[in-house]
Amino acid sequence: MSSEVVSPDTNGIDISDLRVDGERLWQSLMDLAQIGATPKGGVCRLTLTDLDRQGRDLVVSWGKAAGLSVEIDQIGNVFMRRPGRNNALLPIVAGSHIDTQPTGGKFDGNFGVLSALEVMRTLNERGIETEAPVEMVFWTNEEGSRFVPVMMGSGVFAGIFPLEVAYAATDTEGKSVKDELFKIGYAGDVVPGDHPIGAYFEAHIEQGPILEDQDITIGVVQAVLGIRWYDCVVTGMESHAGPTPMAMRKDALQVATHIMQEVVNIAGQFAPHGRGTVGMVQVHPNSRNVVPGSVKFSIDFRNMTDADVDKMDAALKAYIAQIAEKTGLSITLQQVSHYPAAPFHPDCKEAVRRAAQKLGYSSMDIVSGAGHDAVYMSMLAPTGMIFIPCKDGISHNEIEYSAPEQVTAGANVLLHAMLEKAGVVSRS
Ligand SMILES: [Zn+2]
Repeated sequence: MSSEVVSPDTNGIDISDLRVDGERLWQSLMDLAQIGATPKGGVCRLTLTDLDRQGRDLVVSWGKAAGLSVEIDQIGNVFMRRPGRNNALLPIVAGSHIDTQPTGGKFDGNFGVLSALEVMRTLNERGIETEAPVEMVFWTNEEGSRFVPVMMGSGVFAGIFPLEVAYAATDTEGKSVKDELFKIGYAGDVVPGDHPIGAYFEAHIEQGPILEDQDITIGVVQAVLGIRWYDCVVTGMESHAGPTPMAMRKDALQVATHIMQEVVNIAGQFAPHGRGTVGMVQVHPNSRNVVPGSVKFSIDFRNMTDADVDKMDAALKAYIAQIAEKTGLSITLQQVSHYPAAPFHPDCKEAVRRAAQKLGYSSMDIVSGAGHDAVYMSMLAPTGMIFIPCKDGISHNEIEYSAPEQVTAGANVLLHAMLEKAGVVSRS
């Protein structure tokens, strides 16, 4: 593995010894986590709050100290650029988000942003000139816990929803995105999307247990799973739990439980990436001695391709038609939202895989069950993601943790993947 061939993208310049400064990266993660630090060791830095402003200010000050130029767009996405030799080329961009959940951790999002910063610092320190410019970015309101929709900054940037829709979103106190963004001083003047991207990489904690379970250092993310959400309503008839004989009931909950079980069965039929979840159930009238008259529940289906999600959808509808006919109860299934699967670009996946191999890290193909800003970037430019393990697969939790060596490995892979795409022209 160490007898390496110099990649043509490096013009014969040997960069095989190039590594990020893991201690510096770790220190920056810990420093940023001080802003909004919670007593339990997590971070609460909700988007567009004063704490978010402080976090942004700190990251921007680090970027400026690394000689990067700063550009802010109208939804508050912040790009920081390190020029290349040929600045007519589209930039190779890496980033993520620095907003957190109310009981969030130190790593979700922050790791992707600060590992991109560490790439910039390393290139400076080692005197590397790239052919294409390289950039880091942090996107506004990825988490969606204060304002919906989630992945707001990257969504506006990709033209998924208009700026005005994002501006009009309000939090539970009625404060709008627009007012809060201006208040923290991060409403820039660049039109979102007016910023071409050559390729996009996002390093992120896995937020699941697979890498840790398999003892693998790097996940080469193949895709973000497509998602479909439904509301299902089963309507029967309320009746007294005592006098009504079993054969004469129209028990909505009994029928609903069969459908709920089928949701799990269908996910199993579409292994390994099929997911089926019933997370919310409302029983009416929800009384101990009344046969339930109606049940409303949610269904969440996910899979790696939209075609597979379509097949799960068809299987569910066929089952519901069959059980409705058999029981005589009325069953409605309404799709409430969907997010298409986001397959990542072969070139970017291979750049991540090659980087892991060159560096001697174990790697495996993996999918992301959670959404990321990379989903929207994949609609605009070749995109790839790098996953690192997190302890017990836990995230969106104050105890979220990845070890320093895992964080360093992810940043090293990001460095080499970006250099492969940007090209190296000189090193001092
Ligand atoms: Zn995240």
